[in-house]
Amino acid sequence: MAQIRLEGLRKSYGELEVVHGIDLTIGDGEFLVLVGPSGCGKSTLLRMIAGLEEITSGTLRIGDNAVNELPPANRNIAMVFQDYALYPHMNVGDNMAFGLKMRHAPVAEISQRVAKAAEVLKITPFLDRLPGQLSGGQRQRVAMGRAIVREPEAFLFDEPLSNLDAALRVEMRLEMAKLHRRMRATTVYVTHDQVEAMTLADRIVVMHGGRVEQVGRPLDLYHRPQTLFVARFIGSPT
Ligand code: ADP
Ligand code: MG
Repeated sequence: MAQIRLEGLRKSYGELEVVHGIDLTIGDGEFLVLVGPSGCGKSTLLRMIAGLEEITSGTLRIGDNAVNELPPANRNIAMVFQDYALYPHMNVGDNMAFGLKMRHAPVAEISQRVAKAAEVLKITPFLDRLPGQLSGGQRQRVAMGRAIVREPEAFLFDEPLSNLDAALRVEMRLEMAKLHRRMRATTVYVTHDQVEAMTLADRIVVMHGGRVEQVGRPLDLYHRPQTLFVARFIGSPT
């Protein structure tokens, strides 16, 4: 696993700058949660870390290496999307194995990793099914499984539970927590859900208009928000 460092990271689309110089270090094994209103740049930031979006200026480091120019496939970071982005025509096992096959991993190793991840995520009975034959919660587990089998240095989650109903969201949140205790992977997790943020995070980053408004441990933000904006997002209701 590895530390991720953002140094003055900026992103513009044409003339319009949407991420205005973010400085942030995500510790090795840390679970960092990003919150903030729609459009504040959370997904853009994740996509820059993943290598899916060009960095306009600033430096992104994984471990000691600047990786601005490194293609996504060489970053060893796995991203899980809100809409799961599974391949609809491939069964669950093949969805999970796809990334490893692309990297020409040995067949025996691929099936071993897929079997292990499926067991951890309790989706072994569904390995032969197509994504369309699964519930939302099961699809979400497959998307997580696909990330886990790559054994990446870091995980990026973009509102992974937001399409699930409330009960399932609670169950999956507990699964996320368990998974993190087990793997201790460096994680950046975007959510709208205050409970998810408070319970999963080692630290929470509150973003506002492409900037970091405040960073802190959940209870520090809750009890000592530095701005009204943070208080509205995280703070204790007074
Ligand atoms: P969030 O994930 O916090 O809702 P985003 O990172 O998706 O926010 O978007 C941040 C800002 O960048 C928004 O104003 C959005 O409209 C803009 N944006 C995102 N992607 C593009 C794009 N491909 N082209 C132009 N503007 C974009
Ligand atoms: Mg987003």
